Amino acid sequence: MKFELDLFRKITDELLQDEKENPVLPPIHPKNISNVLDLDLSENGSSDDDFAKAIRNLVFNTPRTTTKSFFNQLFGGRNAKATLGDLLAVVLNNAMHTYKVSGPMVEIEKIMVSHFNQLIGYKNNAGGTMASGGSMTNFMAILMARDKAQESIKNKGVQHKLIAYTSKESHYSVSKNAAFIGIGREQVRYIESNDDGEMDTILLQKTIEQDLNKGYQPFFVNATAGTTVMGAFDPLDKIAALCKKYNLWLHADGAYCGSVILSKKYRHLVNGAANTDSFSLNAHKMLGTPLTCSFIMVKDKKYLHDSFSNNASYLFQMDEDEYNLGKISLQCGRRNDGLKLWTLWKSVGHKGLEKIVDHQFYLAAQGREYVRNHPDYTLYSKEDTLSICFNYKDIAPEEICAGLYEHGKLMVGYGSFKGDTFVRLITINYSNSKEDILSFFKKLEAFATKHYSLSLNPA
Ligand SMILES: *Cc1c(COP(=O)(O)O)cnc(C)c1O
Repeated sequence: MKFELDLFRKITDELLQDEKENPVLPPIHPKNISNVLDLDLSENGSSDDDFAKAIRNLVFNTPRTTTKSFFNQLFGGRNAKATLGDLLAVVLNNAMHTYKVSGPMVEIEKIMVSHFNQLIGYKNNAGGTMASGGSMTNFMAILMARDKAQESIKNKGVQHKLIAYTSKESHYSVSKNAAFIGIGREQVRYIESNDDGEMDTILLQKTIEQDLNKGYQPFFVNATAGTTVMGAFDPLDKIAALCKKYNLWLHADGAYCGSVILSKKYRHLVNGAANTDSFSLNAHKMLGTPLTCSFIMVKDKKYLHDSFSNNASYLFQMDEDEYNLGKISLQCGRRNDGLKLWTLWKSVGHKGLEKIVDHQFYLAAQGREYVRNHPDYTLYSKEDTLSICFNYKDIAPEEICAGLYEHGKLMVGYGSFKGDTFVRLITINYSNSKEDILSFFKKLEAFATKHYSLSLNPA
């Protein structure tokens, strides 16, 4: 390993330095990749020298997602403590399915799940696990809901029209997952949101009633804590009341912003969380760990065992099975994705995680204020979201996002809500300061002045 560790150290040292000077790499067109990089695989392999060169070249031509100019996605930044944890997970290479092969790593995962359960407000029966992303934790939720709604489905397949509900603003995995679990995409009802992007609960109830009248079987509501575009929070307490009335599984998709449970100041955004049946969050989004670090917490762990254990039903288990995480997992072998959050959490404590969450909202508030006070901007976002949605002058958002990237200035994306399309700036990289956010706008304005001045009104 010595050669490889030395090489790793050398390349990362160089990379960290270079990232400061060149935080955005202009894109390589996919057609040119093989001209720029030595990626092809040969019969005889490479000498150590060529190998090192090829790796360095690859690393230095890969988009930079951790710098202060990356605002493109719902993740960002590089937390050193979490990165250390993930590097160790690779070196140790455990699989999380049995206690025998992962030992204390099992306890680490259980401890974090248990903290999350307490923060959500779940009681003693609660459980939880990790999966390879938020789409997969959403999948686990809808699958548990299906099996709860009709136990026979696991063996006989779907016999009835089972109906799932989610808002139009929810993540696209809900529709894919409906296909995966065999109920079909057409059995998902997309409920309109209000002007803030939150699911309209009156419409939700109406739609449930309509389906019941047709003889269908409603079984599942997906509520979102932090919608992908607007960062809106569906009203969990109101939705929970409806789910109780109609006996539906309520899942809170907190992939983006479920981590607000760690903050005294912002946990009110998920009021009613204790009344959900499952709650997911991606620590690789708001908590800043490397990808992926996705948790799903379940109010009654019986359902995890019922849907994901392949033998004995939950009641007949031995105690040790509590430590064989494969019994409640989607996968067999599973990567140790928990360690990176644990190393961060161990180092900064609950208070440190809370600071991370609060700072992201602070940055968003600064950005919104800038946009609001500047006549050349139109603001689309509401309060209490990490997504600052705006347009600058009359420049098409698609165009300016592409231009900023091609010229190596900024990585930022765009989104749409109720007919408007806009630039979407995400303040999820908590190592940024207020100045970094203001500098985003300055760079955007300078770029616009340079490239769009002719097409704009001189006024
Ligand atoms: C990111 C996101 C997901 C998907 O998570 P992945 O880890 O990318 O699969 C699901 N739901 C919401 C609301 C998200 O923001």
